[in-house]
Amino acid sequence: MLYRSTRDANVKVSSATAIAQGISNEGGLFVPECIPTLTDADFKRIAKLDYIGRAKEVLKLYLTDFTEEELDYCVNGAYKGTFDNDRPAPLHKLDNGEYILELWHGPTCAFKDLALQLLPFLLTTSAKKVGKGRTVILVATSGDTGKAALEGFSDVENTDIIVFYPNNGVSPMQKLQMDTQKGNNVFVCAIEGNFDDAQSGVKKIFTDAAVKGKLKENGMEFSSANSINWGRLVPQIVYYVSAYCDLINNGEDLKNGFNVVVPTGNFGNILAAYYAKCMGVPVAKLVCASNANNVLTDFINTGVYNRNREFFTTASPSMDILISSNLERMMYHLGGNNAESTAKLQASLANDGKYEINGEMLQKLQELYAGGCCDDKETLKTIAEKFEKYGYLCDTHTAVAVKVYDEYVAATGDKKPTVIASTASPYKFSASVLKAVDESKCSDDEFGMVDALSEVTKTAPPAPIKALKGATPRFNNVCEKENMVDVVIDYLKIK
Ligand SMILES: *Cc1c(COP(=O)(O)O)cnc(C)c1O
Repeated sequence: MLYRSTRDANVKVSSATAIAQGISNEGGLFVPECIPTLTDADFKRIAKLDYIGRAKEVLKLYLTDFTEEELDYCVNGAYKGTFDNDRPAPLHKLDNGEYILELWHGPTCAFKDLALQLLPFLLTTSAKKVGKGRTVILVATSGDTGKAALEGFSDVENTDIIVFYPNNGVSPMQKLQMDTQKGNNVFVCAIEGNFDDAQSGVKKIFTDAAVKGKLKENGMEFSSANSINWGRLVPQIVYYVSAYCDLINNGEDLKNGFNVVVPTGNFGNILAAYYAKCMGVPVAKLVCASNANNVLTDFINTGVYNRNREFFTTASPSMDILISSNLERMMYHLGGNNAESTAKLQASLANDGKYEINGEMLQKLQELYAGGCCDDKETLKTIAEKFEKYGYLCDTHTAVAVKVYDEYVAATGDKKPTVIASTASPYKFSASVLKAVDESKCSDDEFGMVDALSEVTKTAPPAPIKALKGATPRFNNVCEKENMVDVVIDYLKIK
């Protein structure tokens, strides 16, 4: 299987090249030239396997240039002993029949671990295959990617990782998680700006010919751990296949398919669900849930993507995004795998901050997706309500999805079985979650609130959160967004 660029029809590369390089030279994203499918018999067979077995079955269809030994090495390294009970993506059924796909049982307690435990293995294996030297990973993060990437790449041979996060756009717990990261190949820096500034800054460095030249002279090359890298997306397809397997095993009636609800930011997670659907997983509607930064809701409803709007800092910071990078892949596929039209849309987004798709594409988009959004007040109310009703505690991001799904059902009467992606542990956002369930216990003490949340809800905080208490930050760097490139050059010592 070869990979194409969303912006240049002439690009055709192996999966190893796509992963090692991260982004196509002209700025396009790599996409599979066709999407492999599985039959009902395949799914039945795969349903009998554990998560590692399921992951191998899916990955081998996309990474056809990897040997079986290489895939075994990557998948075992990523998922053996790194997640609670070796179950990276368990389904939890609520009393009302809804399924919560818990994606936060990894080392950083957010769904990005599913991809970022695997990516370093895929990336170093790919770099070896295509004969690359040292890989420098640049990350822009809204909070969770940064820590998950640091954790995944820490002390991985032949790599460096540099993470930028918005100084006032991540939770205190996320900040502490990143600033305390161990490893001799890691660097963390806050920027004065929001996530989109961080992401644009990183993209600019990636395509800066002068900097790329300097790296090359020093035997180094950039790659990306953001979800623009295909190696981030393909592991996410696995857990939607796995969820379907679990539904089969539970004997659910799936003749009309099932809906998938995803709290969305960069559009990576929900795009993985789309790829799973194309592979034969009977996903009916993809429900795209946003917080107050509802650029995607408007897009799905009108066909106009417009980032020229107020940016809100919300209780679900990992979704505070106005430019959803992975939407580019979706537009490429919606346009019939058309690089020329995608390049035009992206140019319009870069120049005017907006684009509009044609009627045919909009119709297809609306057949696949429903969009909805909710503000912080509704998010916290949802956390309290679901805890009271079902004894289930969700984090702020998951609560956005739960609320949007409730509204979707009320509006459509669509009662198909449903899987709601739960993207973070509630303890990662203790302040907001505690405020929702018992505001009187809130304080300035982050770990005091973790304990209070545990007491009030009779649930246990995950071990990685407990371990952060009393840890001393290694990093306290802050830079202007214009200076990100200097930070990279200084750290790599390539002046
Ligand atoms: C990253 C993240 C999201 C958004 O996921 P995308 O793939 O960027 O759409 C949602 N919730 C949490 C907790 C996250 O960390």
